[in-house]
Amino acid sequence: MLSRMEILVPMEIMDSIVTEMSFNKSMIFKKSTRYTCLFVSSARPAITLLGAAGEVTGSCSLVEAGRSRIVVDCGMIRGSWEDEQRNLTLPKIDWRWVDAVVLTHVHLDHCGRLAMLFRHGFEGHVYCTPATAEILPRLAKSSARLQRTKLAEFHAGGKPGLPEDAEEPPVLFSEREAQLLAERLRPIPYGLTEQLTEDVMLRLEPAGHIVGAGVVHLECGTGTESARVVFSGDVGSKHVPPMAAPLSPKAADILVLESTNGGRVRPKDADPDAQLAAIAADAFSKNRRVLFPTFAIGRAQNFLYRFAKLSRANKLHVPVLFDAPTAIFATGVYRRYSEQYRPELARQAQAGDDPLDFDELHYISKRREMKEVKRSREPAFVMAGSGFCDGGPIMEHLRHGLPNPDYTVVLGGFTAPDTLSRDLANGEREVSVEGTKIQVEAQILSLEGMSGHADGGTIVDWVHGIQDAPSIIMLNHGEDEARLALAKRLEAVRDWRVLRTAGEERVEL
Ligand SMILES: [Zn+2]
Repeated sequence: MLSRMEILVPMEIMDSIVTEMSFNKSMIFKKSTRYTCLFVSSARPAITLLGAAGEVTGSCSLVEAGRSRIVVDCGMIRGSWEDEQRNLTLPKIDWRWVDAVVLTHVHLDHCGRLAMLFRHGFEGHVYCTPATAEILPRLAKSSARLQRTKLAEFHAGGKPGLPEDAEEPPVLFSEREAQLLAERLRPIPYGLTEQLTEDVMLRLEPAGHIVGAGVVHLECGTGTESARVVFSGDVGSKHVPPMAAPLSPKAADILVLESTNGGRVRPKDADPDAQLAAIAADAFSKNRRVLFPTFAIGRAQNFLYRFAKLSRANKLHVPVLFDAPTAIFATGVYRRYSEQYRPELARQAQAGDDPLDFDELHYISKRREMKEVKRSREPAFVMAGSGFCDGGPIMEHLRHGLPNPDYTVVLGGFTAPDTLSRDLANGEREVSVEGTKIQVEAQILSLEGMSGHADGGTIVDWVHGIQDAPSIIMLNHGEDEARLALAKRLEAVRDWRVLRTAGEERVEL
């Protein structure tokens, strides 16, 4: 149903409104000194990718259905200093009109800008799973603290990680706003239905990937005008225990699908356990220190699981020093939600045998302990964040370890462009660590098969497993090359309509 109305407003006011709504200009037609507004009140949804259209980070999408506006994810853009600056500008919608936000999972590229919404007028709630709701407040507060620290360091004369002519680093939100986000969270267990608005119902289903990750099911409208919009979030790999493999949704009319690894195939002979066993044996026999730049949620627990397995097989030989406060906290949440593990590990956990624990594991909770670790010449594995090597405790370890031939740095999975992790993965022999040039003498290794994202083939299988299959698939969360490769794979299987829309391009369905 469409309705048309004419309104008289001063030109200068309307011009600014039109600019604000630039993603959706087709709704407003200029007629000399008057504007005609065409209000669409169809219950059939329209979807706009407000972020992560042709890139991996900054996920944010808008679903309009009837009079409802739902946003799925509002993530941080990660990468170069210029990319980080883009975070200051939120997607151009009027956040006062947004009824609710749904969060797929607690990775920063999906949740990292949620705490900014309130200063832009958002008054609704943020829906997510209970495990996500446990981790997010802590992650948001530590993110706010890190932003404040970087700004203080900048004004103190240091410009860690920034170009010579850099302006001050962005502060996206305060700790008070992070607290406000915590108060606005509305946890919904998997499988339960929540009426978000008169037009939209929400259900979250397990996505694998990380603890609490959800596939978002939005039931928009009723009767013949209804449509089932499904957001995959990040589809988990089958190879990242302890999490269970992802299950296909039962039904979808429109699927918004991630494509991070859309162009990749996991090598059949990838065997990270064997690689880690060899690295441990080498560390032990040659007295080496091995650094694992680690993402706090997902990668860290996957490493813990693999190290525990090595320990049980008597192949670890070296202590594992865990220097990542947020990862340690998140590991506690994994333990509380062990029913989300793959079945045999869930049973093991429920029998009191923690698949993420082992004798050689040591938690580093104080900086003093970390200094002792650095001074020590004993062989060890050191896990520290962040995984992209763009901040966090790993930076101090890297400053110390990269110029030292007795160190090994182990990278696993995706490395973001313009980050130290990508430079190391590319084999650069001179790198910048927080503004200081360092010659790389350490051994750099990449682990195969560690990505927490499904590869192209697994994504296609996941989509193919949807019994009541979607007619339209919109690809997001992938660089353009990966989106194109995945589109080709999907189209080779079935005559799906696969869209690779640009950012802010509104698709009416
Ligand atoms: Zn993720």
